[in-house]
Amino acid sequence: TMQLPRPDRRRILTVANQKGGVGKTTSTVNLAAGLAVQGLKVLVIDLDPQGNASTALGVDHRSGVPSVYEVLLGEISIADAAAQSTESPNLYCVPATLDLAGSEIELVSMVAREGRLKEALKSEAIEQIAPDYVFIDCPPSLGLLTVNAMVAAHEVLIPIQCEYYALEGLGQLLRNIELVQAHLNPALWVSTILLTMYDGRTKLADQVTNEVRGHFGELTLRTVIPRSVKISEAPGFGKTVLNYDPGSRGSMSYLDAAKEIAERGVERKTA
Ligand code: ADP
Ligand code: MG
Repeated sequence: TMQLPRPDRRRILTVANQKGGVGKTTSTVNLAAGLAVQGLKVLVIDLDPQGNASTALGVDHRSGVPSVYEVLLGEISIADAAAQSTESPNLYCVPATLDLAGSEIELVSMVAREGRLKEALKSEAIEQIAPDYVFIDCPPSLGLLTVNAMVAAHEVLIPIQCEYYALEGLGQLLRNIELVQAHLNPALWVSTILLTMYDGRTKLADQVTNEVRGHFGELTLRTVIPRSVKISEAPGFGKTVLNYDPGSRGSMSYLDAAKEIAERGVERKTA
């Protein structure tokens, strides 16, 4: 596969939407793999105690393995916790274990509780991996873990499912992003909207697509991710769809979306 342009500086994207099941994790792992197989170094940070991103990337996340939990506590570095994904030699993942489930409460009493992940990403140790892209997979809530992700990132990528109630809750998400901008991370912006689980046979999918493009315009990727059984089967094999079924529509769409993100990121920077 061809090489994508390397960004001038590391891009850190938080994949957020407080609704569960909209394709956050699926998009995180497949976009990350899409960039990695096209020549870029990518680090995924699994910030959901479920550990679904770790699973899909073939990375061990049993309780006790070095994970993002110890990173947030400041006990180990990102590089200590990162494991190479079986999906690509360019792809690393900091796994989430179930230990993370209690951390929203533990973090509350800690100093600089909103900035723990940011600090970890800023430390020298990350240069042992030196990722071009960092993707942070958020849990389906707007709690302290998601706030840590938004404080650590430059960009928010919002996956939107082409389904009933797709836009429900989006206002709340955008208001939270504004709060983080105002108080904790002025550099944060919503750079990317990705439409997922598009079913071309339904009128509804087109309605949602038009509504989202009407609202977010250029921020919406041209590439739309189709609803595909292959995409949903892949994590069961510890794989991304790119390796599970390389020729499938799902795989091609995530490769295209990754390319779009890489190419327009560079365009914006020089504009
Ligand atoms: P979230 O992380 O937002 O909770 P997931 O990425 O886990 O959402 O996706 C929710 C469910 O939908 C999972 O079972 C996943 O396999 C499935 N899924 C995600 N994207 C697609 C798609 N494009 N086509 C079919 N199933 C999908
Ligand atoms: Mg998820």
